[in-house]
Parts: sequence; structure tokens; C-alpha cells
Amino acid sequence: MKGFAIISILFFSLALTWQTNPRREVADLVLLNCAVWTVNPAQPWAEAVAIKEDKILEAGSSQEIKRMIGDSTQVIDLKGDMVLPGFIDSHTHFLDGGFSLLGIRLRDAESREEFITKIADKAKKIEKGVWILDGDWDHQSFDPPELPRKEWIDPATLHNPVCVNRYDGHMVLVNSLALKLAGVTKDTHSPAGGEILKDSETGEPTGILKDAAMNLVTKHIPEPSFREKLKAAEVALKHAAEKGVTSIHDMANADNFEVYQELLRLNKLTARLYVYIPITEVELYARLKLKTPFGNNLLKIGGLKGFVDGSLGSSTALFFDPYTDNPRKKGLLHSQMFPEGIMEKRIIQAEKAGLQVAIHAIGDRANSILLDIFERIIAQSEKRDRRWRIEHAQHLLPGDIERIASLDIIASVQPYHAIDDGRWAERKIGRKRCQYTYAFKSLLEKGAVLACGSDWTVAPLDPIGGIYAAVTRQTLDGKHPEGWFPEQKISLEEAVKGYTLNGAYAEFSENMKGSVEKGKVADLVVLSRNIFKIPPDEIQKTEVKMTILNGKIIYKK
Ligand SMILES: [Zn+2]
Repeated sequence: MKGFAIISILFFSLALTWQTNPRREVADLVLLNCAVWTVNPAQPWAEAVAIKEDKILEAGSSQEIKRMIGDSTQVIDLKGDMVLPGFIDSHTHFLDGGFSLLGIRLRDAESREEFITKIADKAKKIEKGVWILDGDWDHQSFDPPELPRKEWIDPATLHNPVCVNRYDGHMVLVNSLALKLAGVTKDTHSPAGGEILKDSETGEPTGILKDAAMNLVTKHIPEPSFREKLKAAEVALKHAAEKGVTSIHDMANADNFEVYQELLRLNKLTARLYVYIPITEVELYARLKLKTPFGNNLLKIGGLKGFVDGSLGSSTALFFDPYTDNPRKKGLLHSQMFPEGIMEKRIIQAEKAGLQVAIHAIGDRANSILLDIFERIIAQSEKRDRRWRIEHAQHLLPGDIERIASLDIIASVQPYHAIDDGRWAERKIGRKRCQYTYAFKSLLEKGAVLACGSDWTVAPLDPIGGIYAAVTRQTLDGKHPEGWFPEQKISLEEAVKGYTLNGAYAEFSENMKGSVEKGKVADLVVLSRNIFKIPPDEIQKTEVKMTILNGKIIYKK
């Protein structure tokens, strides 16, 4: 009887506490006085956020959140700064990004002379025999635009093999020493899916190798050591945190996984990594009966990444009609499309194993070929939540925009490319095809999901710059102040969603992250200005002031 009384009293007092203080949960960290755009349609705006351990306890009014402050709570007054969910970059080549931060940078070379000087300077600083790599050059920035040649750099690089890539990764310039090491001469034929550019008079290789032809040389480049890779990953992670990026989709270099595992073990992963593996490995997945996503909230194996074609800048993106600036060319199928039918076979294997695929398609014909494959497979299979993705979905036939939406394919797009390529795309493919180039608005109108990314190192790892690009479409040369094909601009809300919740959706994690919502992981970014209250062309001046991952501050300006 006595016991019962005690229990009753206990219950009574518990009930009382519950009533008088419905949520006396104490936060570890509270952000006050901020403008939070939550990306949660049920409650789009909040003034404050409470965090406990790695989760969001609540987002709401300052009054509500203040009740969660206890003796041990860290309180940060943001004085009106903007808070968004941590950015998710849905397409990166993450480790390459780290190496590019460490290596030679040719992206800002604006002339032949500057290009040569930068390479010559590098050669002076390194030992004989060491390769000069990376670079990310852009010949469209040269005045006049012209492809570099091996003769430009040979005199300064007699003892160092050179293999520097165009920023899109679809062509490289190599020097004579590298050609010699690779055994490539005027008699070497271009491989399927690639091209060795040759001088029209002498027949000698010019030093430019496109797509599959790049392998002729790149296979001779010594692998970086594990330590070098770790270093590159750490530099890349630091850079991501500075840009407010808390989640990364890494495109398909299986060798990177070991590095990420080691960083996980060392507790040094400051971004969540969702890693794609090349589709050529589909058999291995099937053998392991691996169901993806596989892993934990910091490191996951996602789906399979494949390629249908090349890139616009390298004239290897595959179109139905010839290039406007080169009527003999329509682009190339990627080597992964050979032997014929192999891509479809691999995607069928992926379907049978229940896997996600993310396939690169840039030209209109490449996108059509891929959608045909997807359509055939989906029609013959059971209904399921596939979340298959087209990476880039760059140049589309109007009918294919509809197909992307109706087949529930995610368009994994890179808005920054639009303001970059918009400088010269019309010259390459003409005005008509450009109407459905980076057709973000049309895709949204038809109901497709846009997951936004950078394609770093092709473009900067910088979601703010990407959001700016998507809402303004102002090309980098300042020649389109109203926007390049302004009818394809999207709203700020859609752009932010593309870099947050839609990125989470594209990796089956929308219940875990992507919005500032009770119970989701506390991944947040604090911005210097409320981007919803400034003219769109000022968005790019916004700075990242703080980045929070799992409730911990990983970057502070
Ligand atoms: Zn890419």
C-alpha cells in the first residue's frame, strides 16, 4: 500500500512537471537572434535554434528556445545573421579538389604567356622526373582562345613530364617527355571514346589528349602515396567547412574510400561523405549483395557512377546535330559505352541488386540515350524508390525534360557551370540548343527534383556562388546582366533547397538532414547576410561565418 502511494506521488509530480514545463529539455548549444530559413515547409522561418548533442532540439521563436538554456548551455547571439541547413554538394571530385588546392593552378591564366610562365615556374621548383599535374586550365579564358600545345611548354620542361588537365577533366595537355614515356607518336591511333589531337601539317601529336586518350599518359603517372592522399583529403575538408559544406557526394574514385575510412577512424571527418563507386564495379556489389546506402551517418557508400559522354568545353559532349563551331563533329560516346550495350547491361545489374545509379550525360543525344535505357529498364521492373540520377543533364531536348520528371529521375545539376559556360556555349552549339541548356526552371516546372552541386574541381566548391548563379544566371564576363537565358532562372527558395534538402533526398537521407527541423542532425551554416533580403546580384558577396556539423562548430571566421 505504501509503495503504491509513493508511486502515485511520483506519477503526480511527474505529470505536474510535464504540465507546467512541457519541454524543459536543456540544450548544449543555442543560436539566438538569427534569421533561419529552415527548408521545412511546415515552418519556413525561425529566430533561434537549440541543439542537443548532435541533433536539433528545436527551431522556433527566441522565446521558445530561450527556455532550453541551462547552466551548461553555450549561447551564441548571432545578431541577425542568417542560418541555413548545412550545404550539401551533390557532385564533387573531392580528393582531386584537395590535390588541386595543393598543386599547380592554371585556372586564372589568361594568356599563352601566363600559362607558360606558371608551368616553367613550377618546373624550376621541383626535382627532375617529378610530374607536373592538375592545373585546371581553361583555354576559353585565353585571349584569343586557343588550345595549348606541347611546344609551348617543352623548352621549360625537358626533365619533368607534364600532364595538366582542362578544368572539366575531359582533356589534358602533355609535353613531349610525357608522350615519350607513354610511347605515343604520330602513328598512335586514337582509342575508342577518345582523341589524340594531331597537327594538321606534320601529323605529330599536339599534346592535347581528349577523354579516353588521356589514359594513354595518365596510366604512367605514379599513384600519390597514402599520406599524400590523406593530406589532400584534410585540405579539402577544411576548404569545405570554410564554404559551409557539411555533406559531400564524391564521384566515383574507389581508391578514395580507404582515405576516408582512415579519417573516420581518426575522428577527422568534418563532412558527411556519400561516395559513389564506378559502375564498372557493379559485379562486385552484386557479389557482396551490398545494399546501398551502406555505412554510417558520416561515411556511406552510395550508388554507382557511370559516363555516357564527355564535356561541352572539350567538344566531346554527344549531340544529335554537329557542333556549330565544328560541323564535322557531334561529340563522343564515353569508353564505358563500349562494347555496345554494356551500359544497359550494367544498369540492369544495378536494378536487380536494388542499387542507385548516377550517370553522367551532357549532350542532348547522351541524355536521350540514357533516358531510353532508364525508360526500358523501369518499364520492365517492379515499382520501387530508385532515385536514379543524371549527372549534369546539361543539354536537353524539351521532351527529355518531361521524361526526366515522369521517370522520377533526379537532375544532378551544377548552376555555376551555367554562368561559366554561358560565356561561350552559344559559339559552340548555337542559340537554339542553348535554350534548353542548364534548363533548371523547365526541369522544376515539369516536376523534376534538382540536386545541386559544384562538380569541384570543374567549378569552385562554393554553394553561395552556385545559388547566386542559379538565381541570376549572370555570366562571369558580365555580358548578361539580366541573366543568360533568364527564363531559366530559379527562385532563391528552390536554389537553397537544391543545395540542402534535395541533396539529402538524392542520397536517401532527407529524414536525417537537409532542413533545420527537430530531430534532424545539427548541420548548419551561418551567413553574414540574409540572402532573402538583398538584391540577388549581391548574394555572391555573402560570407560563411560559421559552420556546424553534428552540433559542433567546425569553422568560425
Ligand atoms: Zn564530375
